[in-house]
Amino acid sequence: MAPRPHFLVLTFPLQGHIAPALRLARRLLAAAPDALVTFSTPAAAHRLMFEEGQRGGGGGEDGDDGRFELLPFSDGTEIDRVPGGDHVAEFNGYMASFHAEGRRSVGELVDALAARGRPVSRVVYTLLLPWAADVARDRGVPSALYWIQPVAVLAIYYHYFHGHGSVVDDHCCDKSFVVELPGLPPLAVGDLPSFITDATDPSDYLHSIFTTFRDLFDTLDRETPRATVLVNTCQEFEETTLAAVGAYDVLTIGPVLPSGDEAGLFKQDDAKYMEWLDTKPANSVVYVSFGSLTVMAREQLDELLHGLEASGRLYLCVLRKDNKAMLADQAAAAGTEMDASALRNGMVVEWCDQVRVLSHSAVGCFVTHCGWNSVLESVTCGVPMVGVPRMSDQRMNARLVERDWRVGVRAEDSGGGVLRAAELQRRVEEVMGEGEAAAEVRRTAAAWKRAVAEALGRGGSSDRNLTAFVEGARSGI
Ligand code: UDP
Repeated sequence: MAPRPHFLVLTFPLQGHIAPALRLARRLLAAAPDALVTFSTPAAAHRLMFEEGQRGGGGGEDGDDGRFELLPFSDGTEIDRVPGGDHVAEFNGYMASFHAEGRRSVGELVDALAARGRPVSRVVYTLLLPWAADVARDRGVPSALYWIQPVAVLAIYYHYFHGHGSVVDDHCCDKSFVVELPGLPPLAVGDLPSFITDATDPSDYLHSIFTTFRDLFDTLDRETPRATVLVNTCQEFEETTLAAVGAYDVLTIGPVLPSGDEAGLFKQDDAKYMEWLDTKPANSVVYVSFGSLTVMAREQLDELLHGLEASGRLYLCVLRKDNKAMLADQAAAAGTEMDASALRNGMVVEWCDQVRVLSHSAVGCFVTHCGWNSVLESVTCGVPMVGVPRMSDQRMNARLVERDWRVGVRAEDSGGGVLRAAELQRRVEEVMGEGEAAAEVRRTAAAWKRAVAEALGRGGSSDRNLTAFVEGARSGI
């Protein structure tokens, strides 16, 4: 019997990395009915995500004939928590342990899979584990980086680490300074990924992310003849930028989407918010979420809720635990019920099923921090956006939304990095209001929704690229 392709999908334990990795794992299973897929993330995230019965070796999930396994690796952390949130100050220490212990543990995992007759034929790894490529190469196994940000951001990092770093370094404090990088439009320094403008100093609390990206591009340079990079985007989104990363074999395979219920790091609120949406008219609700990591300062939270209330529109707002607690404290101090007073028109949840929410006909706009997953999910669902970008790739993503695809607008901070209520209200009207400009944004969003469906459908660009990747893995065994 011919050997079966076996993909080992490895991911860093952040929700924004886990979700696209798990979705890709499932797409690989579907694209190659004989393939084996192993999904692996550090043990703490693994325990948070998967039920007892799904964990560990041997047992696959229902309906996959044992082709799918969930196996954790060690990041050296004993405690049951994942990076981010309130322990961000410890991030650099975590990364040191993650790299050293992760490399060792993933090596053992690859060897153990081979020893039990499931040799890995392709390692697929997300952004922050460059050593995965070395682990694979040392064992003669090809690997592919899974880039979970736009091609434009891949191109920026590529050129930063290949001869164009000094121009960015020399102007990193001048956010309006314009840099020219090969194959990209002129870009303001403020639109570049924050890790190359704000985290290059070893004293920065996120410096280890900068060094990890540096290691990643070093490891890609060591691939022969060329590194393979799968990108969670579709060709139609970034047609002209693809040439800027000609050094790699780039395969656009996205946007990857959940298939049914999806395991994640956070527990969803009960489904009352879906029932609430069911009672609202089409395109009437503003959905607000700043992703899995953002905790807003008190001032920002006040401005946000004030702006939403003042808009007079209905809204569903995700507030992470600390922000929700802040709101409850505020209401208690005022002697009122949280949602009966400040939140006349809205509903607050701690975590929802975002793709289900964005797919609901009542949702007419997404106020988002422009994390790449959120942007992709919104475009896929045809929901116009108000971008409120903060860090990492978010400003570049917001630029794509506003200037390239014209499916939303970007809200600008006042000085001090606070989005004011009036600005939010104005921007929400720009995509939800009655004017011709707003109608045009909505039409464009609907057109992109159709284009994405075509890219993902049989014979579409992303479908073809994923098939090519799978066939490549098969022929390479
Ligand atoms: N998400 C969710 N429920 C929420 C808020 C977010 O399921 O209440 C998901 C969202 O669908 C996306 C991910 O969390 O897949 C966030 O990823 P993104 O890249 O947008 O932002 P990050 O959290 O990495 O900053």
